[in-house]
Amino acid sequence: MSARLDEKLEPIYQEVLHRNPGESEFHQAVREVLETMGPVLVKYPEFADKKIIQRICEPERQIIFRVPWQDDRGEIHINRAFRVEFNSALGPYKGGMRFHPSVYLGIIKFLGFEQIFKNALTGMPIGGGKGGSDFDPKGKSDDEIMRFCQSLMTELYRHLGEYTDVPAGDIGVGSREIGYMFGQYKRITNRYESGIFTGKGIGWGGSLARKEATGYGTVFFTHEMLKARGDTLEGKKVVVSGSGNVAIYAIEKAHELGAKVIACSDSAGVIIHEAGIDLETVKRIKEVERRRIKAYLEVHKDAKYVEDGNIWSVPCDIALPCATQNELNGKDAELLIKNGCIAVAEGANMPSTPEGIQVFQAAKIAYGPGKAANAGGVATSALEMQQNASRDSWSFDYTQKRLEEIMIGIHKSCYETADEFGAPGNYVIGANIAGFLKVARAMDAMGVI
Ligand code: NAP
Repeated sequence: MSARLDEKLEPIYQEVLHRNPGESEFHQAVREVLETMGPVLVKYPEFADKKIIQRICEPERQIIFRVPWQDDRGEIHINRAFRVEFNSALGPYKGGMRFHPSVYLGIIKFLGFEQIFKNALTGMPIGGGKGGSDFDPKGKSDDEIMRFCQSLMTELYRHLGEYTDVPAGDIGVGSREIGYMFGQYKRITNRYESGIFTGKGIGWGGSLARKEATGYGTVFFTHEMLKARGDTLEGKKVVVSGSGNVAIYAIEKAHELGAKVIACSDSAGVIIHEAGIDLETVKRIKEVERRRIKAYLEVHKDAKYVEDGNIWSVPCDIALPCATQNELNGKDAELLIKNGCIAVAEGANMPSTPEGIQVFQAAKIAYGPGKAANAGGVATSALEMQQNASRDSWSFDYTQKRLEEIMIGIHKSCYETADEFGAPGNYVIGANIAGFLKVARAMDAMGVI
């Protein structure tokens, strides 16, 4: 069960439910933020008078469009795509594109809503947005992916711009898809505008360390949470769900900082390898061959594969959910606590259900919500935009250093804000309030727009 809402906030939530029927993930994301806003309205009643929260809950613009494309046999398919331009108080809309069959407006709105606060926390000049399509890239040829991306961009291009809306990748969208979309934008507009997309390839406007940034950032944030409790990552056993972009680079940084990752997964099953996950094998299977994680067993006979397994049943010190929303429920959280888990940091967006979060908070373990813990990806996208704007490219080490400083800054801001609002160690309250205040002050300054 969720916490009760403040009496001023309950009607706002009811209005969100009424105006956005059937969008359960969006409702969940809004509720999670509203649950922490009570003390803010006491301290800053002007934000209630000016209806800042109601305005934040309504996207500035929502675009829904048809994407027709032909497969290799000549058959025509029709997908639906979305771009939700949620809030531009702090800068151009910024947030990734997701290609997955589960995508519908409610998923894109939850992601866009989260993105507003996350982007504010980075301290960079970026607003919040998100997009995607119900297109399933699995099993498609490169040519099919290209035709789909070109068709999608033939509509989306008119809504983008360096000062307007700058997409990036997310589930199902990596540098291959970004290349096809960027190429089509360039072709239609006849303009080489590097700043309209981030997550581009190195050599055509991309930033070193962007690919690694979300996973690395999640581990930097985890390390900061542990340090705040007088602990470190050294020697810790870690499990990481997923084996996509975020998961792979979370594993890499966890290993670099002295931890041992013993399990990872994909949507078909879980690999458990007590000797430590061999990341080169995971990278080859996922980044090069695009196969199922089960193929890991071909190389490591001493590992175990559990079809449809529950990764949260693997005993660990630290859990990093890096796959998808609502992948860790209350029972999973109880299992993790029972097995001795001391920290959870979310590489994915909203991977823990409200019940899961309650269990972590009741157990008083270090729990870093996605909007803080995975903000390193979008922060490094903003660094990519800086490099593009100055026609420069920075070294890997310099960019990674900036990322680390940003993650330390986000941790500090969440930690201090939680303290200030009487909830020490509560990173949910810290992240929501610190992010909200930045956006609210900017919106207030700009009048009723
Ligand atoms: P990705 O490269 O496509 O990898 C996603 C991983 O999660 C894959 O292993 C996938 O397994 C698994 N997965 C996806 N949907 C699933 C489902 N319904 N059930 C179980 N497993 C599922 O995507 P990503 O970029 O790593 O993104 C992962 C998460 O991080 C998402 O929540 C995303 O919003 C968030 N995030 C990403 C970034 C970024 O920079 N990429 C930044 C911030 C947050 P299969 O291959 O079997 O589907």
